Amino acid sequence: MEEPSTDFKFKAGFISVVGRPNVGKSTLINRLLGQKVAAVSPKPQTTRRQQLGILTLESSQLIFVDTPGIHLPKHKLGQHMNEEAVQSLEESDLILWLVDAEVDPTEEDLQVAAHIREDRGGQKVILALNKIDKIGESEIPGREAGYLDLLPEATLITISATRGDHLDRLVSLISAALPETPPFYPEDQLTDAYERDIAADLIREAALRQLYDEVPHSLAIRIDEFKERGDRGAYIAATIFVERESQKAIVIGQGGKMLRTIGTTARKEIEAMSGRKVYLELKVKTRKNWRNDLASLRAFGFRT
Ligand code: GDP
Ligand code: MG
Repeated sequence: MEEPSTDFKFKAGFISVVGRPNVGKSTLINRLLGQKVAAVSPKPQTTRRQQLGILTLESSQLIFVDTPGIHLPKHKLGQHMNEEAVQSLEESDLILWLVDAEVDPTEEDLQVAAHIREDRGGQKVILALNKIDKIGESEIPGREAGYLDLLPEATLITISATRGDHLDRLVSLISAALPETPPFYPEDQLTDAYERDIAADLIREAALRQLYDEVPHSLAIRIDEFKERGDRGAYIAATIFVERESQKAIVIGQGGKMLRTIGTTARKEIEAMSGRKVYLELKVKTRKNWRNDLASLRAFGFRT
């Protein structure tokens, strides 16, 4: 059998990005891909659906799987998120564990470490101490030791996802650890998510950012229509689902002001992501207990 001859060996594989909420997983993936792919939010748990971020270089292809934060299940959605995270740990080629350099390991970090120990299939683990821009040089060794203690076999690297420190080195470390195989995806593909899924994430992110703590995570987005209109860009109609009437009133705001602000913010983000004009129409509906309702979860695009 004839094999095509190659001068260099291409490496490719799936990297599960794990870590408790808010350590910077989405920020890191976005930064590496140079584009908004995963939703980033100052609030935990913005990233609910598992999404791939694909970085294709000259001799490697890095496929990042941004897992929802591993945390204690409080309701069915929580359980679902954990299952996906566990599956990603078992099946990936490499585990990238992110932690926050600003603080010593928390209870949640201990849990993540335990998940990695129990659920991984023997892959290498890279432990990235993120947000080093937030602490002094002298504090770094202590933090490194604290986290490395939880998983001594991990390879440690310090980074800043926002300032860009050591990201080249991180990419080299990851590339080197991947198996030799041809690329899985075409090189111009950045994500496997449909544009409508990304649009839904951007709307959710815009809403969470505007609403602060008033409407916590009982908020889901459904894209009702996504139509191309040639030169006039795209038409998107979406519904924001909340669990209670009181939350619906907050999302709509005085005379519809809040909903307009959310719509404008989200529209600009979607336009920036897709490079064309977007007309966005938003509605708000109440659906009680959607977080515990598997049918609703499926309609909202969660794999159940
Ligand atoms: P995730 O929940 O792990 O996906 O975390 P996000 O990517 O949503 O980030 C949570 C927050 O941390 C956001 O406000 C980010 O801007 C911030 N953040 C992420 N990485 C860094 C970093 O390297 N330095 C600083 N100063 N902030 C960061
Ligand atoms: Mg995230």
